[in-house]
Amino acid sequence: AKEQGKANYQFFTADINAEVSERMIIKNGLSKALEREEFTVYYQPKCDLATGRLTGVEALLRWRNMELGAVSPVKFIPVMEETGLIGTVGEWVLEMACQQYRIWRDAGHPHMRVAVNLSVRQLRQPNLARSVEEALRRAGIEASGIELEITESMIMRDTENAIDVLRTLSEMGIHLAMDDFGTGYSSLSYLKKFPVHTIKIDRSFINDIATDPDDQEIIRTIISMGHSLRRKVVAEGVETEEQRILLRKLRCDEMQGYLLSPPVPAAEIDRLLASLRPG
Ligand code: C2E
Ligand code: CA
Ligand code: CA
Ligand code: CA
Repeated sequence: AKEQGKANYQFFTADINAEVSERMIIKNGLSKALEREEFTVYYQPKCDLATGRLTGVEALLRWRNMELGAVSPVKFIPVMEETGLIGTVGEWVLEMACQQYRIWRDAGHPHMRVAVNLSVRQLRQPNLARSVEEALRRAGIEASGIELEITESMIMRDTENAIDVLRTLSEMGIHLAMDDFGTGYSSLSYLKKFPVHTIKIDRSFINDIATDPDDQEIIRTIISMGHSLRRKVVAEGVETEEQRILLRKLRCDEMQGYLLSPPVPAAEIDRLLASLRPG
């Protein structure tokens, strides 16, 4: 038993070491990623559940490194949060999103609002509103072309300051969305306090709606609660036709997910816009 305990311990430390060194490799790689132009932005469309019309996209950061290949944001975003690099890269994503919105607007798609995920660090930056304003100005677009996504847990960490910042952004005309809704505290009274236009139901609730009556009930409640507070409700991670039909029946406003499209380069969105164009 003693021998086995030792063996387990060795496996355990090997795992930890592998994790630590992977993190180190990611950290090192990230430090040069911006100048080496290893980042790109993909866009995942959303559509209106009643009409099927595209309503906008979410900008999602992609990182491809020579040694590591494509690394998931789930792995590298936390590292960038830790090192602080998320500040610079987050601004770069916002810049790309604004420029891209300008292109779609000028091509006759002014409703194609571009959503950008904010990090905790960005929300804490005292000059966030100013840097958003400057990005809008450089791109020559109006604030209503951009949506910022924040999570409940980000707000909960720093409620007073966060709500002030969100209010300022909202007053500028920026749209705000509560991301991953349902995974945090999400009580009615909190939602009322947050000046968000949209709530995005986390995909963990969407997964089993076709088979799990409890999840169906949760979604029904979120949708009616959202609507009674005049919020638009978006379902994330919609993968099947069954889910789409159910969400439509429950009067969810919009959907996003692999069923419509995975995140893709901007050129693919152009193709989608052309193929979905009426007439
Ligand atoms: P998120 O904001 O919740 O983004 C949605 C994630 O769900 C994306 O993962 C997207 O590819 C994935 N997804 C979309 N539809 C489906 C579906 O039908 N099924 C499944 N299984 N997944 C789907 P991704 O791109 O890997 O991003 C993961 C997370 O990384 C994001 O979660 C967000 O929190 C963060 N992230 C990505 N880009 C940025 C960024 O530019 N800035 C910041 N701060 N965070 C980012
Ligand atoms: Ca998001
Ligand atoms: Ca989400
Ligand atoms: Ca998420």
